[in-house]
Amino acid sequence: MLPKNLAEGYRRFVRDTHAKDRGRYIQLAELGQTPGAMVIACCDARVDVSAIFDAEPGALFIMRNVANLVPPYEPEGKYHGTSAAVEYAATALKVPHLIVLGHSHCGGVDTYRRGVRDKLPEHGFIGRWLTLLDNLKPVESDIFAYGDEMAFEFAAVRSSIANLRTFPFIKKRLESGLLTLHGLHFDLGSGELLSLEEDTGRFEALSEP
Ligand SMILES: [Zn+2]
Repeated sequence: MLPKNLAEGYRRFVRDTHAKDRGRYIQLAELGQTPGAMVIACCDARVDVSAIFDAEPGALFIMRNVANLVPPYEPEGKYHGTSAAVEYAATALKVPHLIVLGHSHCGGVDTYRRGVRDKLPEHGFIGRWLTLLDNLKPVESDIFAYGDEMAFEFAAVRSSIANLRTFPFIKKRLESGLLTLHGLHFDLGSGELLSLEEDTGRFEALSEP
C-alpha cells in the first residue's frame, strides 16, 4: 500500500495544482514536450531540481543518477540509461542547454573521496558506477577556497562535462552553436548556486542577468 503521506500528497496535487492548471496539462499531453534544458542531477532526495529552478511541468528534461555523473561515450556498452537520456535530449528534443547539477554533501562523491568505494559489495552496481570518478583530480584552489569535499564535487561536475563532449552528437551540436553546456553546484544549506565559468574553469557565484 502506498504510504499515507504520498497518497494524501497526490490527492492535494490533483485537487489544488492539476485542477487549477488543467489547461496547461492538457496542452502538454496533446502537444508533447519541448523542454528548454536537460538537467543531469543526483538522485539525492534533497536535490529538488524543479524547485531549485522554480520550473513548471514540461520545462526541464531531468535525468537523476548517483552523483550526477555522465559516462564517456561508449557505443559498445550495455545498458546506458544516462547516455540514452542525453541522446534523446540532444537529438530528438534538441534542447539548447544541457546542465550538470552537482550538490553539496553528495554521498556518492563522498564515498569515492573517502576511499570507501573499494569496500562496497563485490559485483555491486554503485561501486562500478563510481569508477567513473577514478582519476578525479580536485583543483588546489578549490580545496583552499571551499574545502576537500566541495572540491571533489566540483571535479565530478567538470568530469561529467568533459565526458559529455565525447558524444559525437553533442560535439556536433556544440560546434554548430545549437547547444551550450553548463556546470552548476547547489549548496543545500545556503541555497547558493555556483556556475562553472568556461573561460576561467572556476566555479563562481551565478551572475545577475
Ligand atoms: Zn549526490
